Amino acid sequence: TPRLRVAPSPTGDPHVGTAYMALFNLAFVRQEGGRFVLRVEDTDRARFNPTSEAQLYQTLTWLGLTWDEGPDIGGPYAPYRQSERLDTYRPYVQRLIDDGHAYYCWCSSERLAAMRDKQQKLKQPTGYDRLCYGKTQEERAELDGYSETPVVRMLVPEDAPTTFEDVIRGTVSAPRPDDQVILKADGFPTYHLAVVVDDHEMGITHVVRGEEWISSTPKHVLLYQWLGLEPPKFAHMPLLRNENKSKISKRKNPWARLTWFEEQGYLPEAVVNFLGLLAYPPAKGEDGTEVEKFTFAEFSRDFAWSKVNTVGPIFDLKKLDWLNGQYIRDLELGDFASRLIPFLQREGVLGENPSMGELARLKSVAEQIQTRINLLSEAAPMVRPFYTSDEELEISEDARAGLKEDAPQVLDAAIEALEGLESPKGVLGEARERNQWHAEQIEAMLRAAVVDGLGLKPRVAFGPLRAAVSGQRISPPLFESMEILGKASTLTRLRRLRG
Ligand code: ATP
Ligand code: GLU
Repeated sequence: TPRLRVAPSPTGDPHVGTAYMALFNLAFVRQEGGRFVLRVEDTDRARFNPTSEAQLYQTLTWLGLTWDEGPDIGGPYAPYRQSERLDTYRPYVQRLIDDGHAYYCWCSSERLAAMRDKQQKLKQPTGYDRLCYGKTQEERAELDGYSETPVVRMLVPEDAPTTFEDVIRGTVSAPRPDDQVILKADGFPTYHLAVVVDDHEMGITHVVRGEEWISSTPKHVLLYQWLGLEPPKFAHMPLLRNENKSKISKRKNPWARLTWFEEQGYLPEAVVNFLGLLAYPPAKGEDGTEVEKFTFAEFSRDFAWSKVNTVGPIFDLKKLDWLNGQYIRDLELGDFASRLIPFLQREGVLGENPSMGELARLKSVAEQIQTRINLLSEAAPMVRPFYTSDEELEISEDARAGLKEDAPQVLDAAIEALEGLESPKGVLGEARERNQWHAEQIEAMLRAAVVDGLGLKPRVAFGPLRAAVSGQRISPPLFESMEILGKASTLTRLRRLRG
């Protein structure tokens, strides 16, 4: 059975590319009934970040891209953290040295840097010049640029193979590798050795990773060959690109960080769907049209490597916003309301422990905004007026600027008309009798009094009412908002703006 893995390095906030790779790995694994492994590649101690691993678990779990084996849950090939596997790598290194495929190198980092500078100035190919090759430690110590603790390098032959078969790309050529370090001076293996040893030891059948690793694959193929191991299949996914074709990078783009998506108020379902549309064609519906909205299960069912496009897909955030809006509309109302809570708490609209009354009101308000937002984070300004006391409601500059000279007249007419409605006795929204305080009646009264009575266009007529009730120029539907606020609060707000 297929065994696939993602192998992120805990060097900071998880990269959106990690989720992208996890999704494509998983689509294939779930289709084939295989196993999905999460391996933490923490051999680069200089870039190690102690909070990164927990963030990785949190973000991938949030997306529903969960693993069958990993450092947190264990599995038959534990440990799954490379820093805990140093004993596993040592014998492999020894074997490569004993077989003459690898050698010690005592060159100091200063010497290596100077060598590289010189090669670059002379426009020569860069790569280790093999000063240490064939020398004993004593012989090497006589020369300049010596450092006490050696590294181990691959002895890459002139005729090393540089092509390999890729599941997505067919035959791929890469440059001839140089004498790559496989064991560092700190005793840790480099990525290249660890990835080969672990993919072998963990029974990985398909290595699916970003295309920036294509140039490393010939090194890995050599190691498999030297160690007499069967290499896995390789699939190199195209890198995600910005609109200007630059590669999405954590240093430049906030959306390269996986944590960004949750902060912004994207739904995990929408993010997964969006990632599944990158470098992959949408399915065709029964009528032949493209189906852009799909679940992971649907994606996985028809997944095929042959359909992956090798051109770097453009990360179109407008498309993601649109898709997210679609997912928000389709949420069951109670679910939508509960997903809003953390965003409202973050903005101080709701407290840490909202009361039953506040939650009941939230459901009514949520119903009014569900079709009006694309991101959960857009809800707070729309919801805030419903959790602000009448006295504290602020009228925005924008809403004030929109008020015309006839605003006092409009407010007077509205106040008079609405005073004629009765507050319902029962539960909010249940009373649907004539003359009671609910949206349809409120609308009828206001149209009669303000639109017909004063001869104003609805847009002009309702502007001051909207400003009074929500403090904003654009707000959830006016009559429904009034119904939710109730008669007393609505009238207080209208009077307050009237002054
Ligand atoms: P930097 O900001 O230094 O450029 P980065 O964004 O390139 O950083 P890395 O730490 O180099 O991020 O890579 C982390 C992981 O994300 C790697 O597994 C890499 O394959 C993947 N990755 C990086 N950039 C992309 C991209 N544009 N598309 C898909 N995956 C990517
Ligand atoms: N640790 C590597 C990374 O961060 C893994 C690359 C691979 O999948 O081989 O991308």
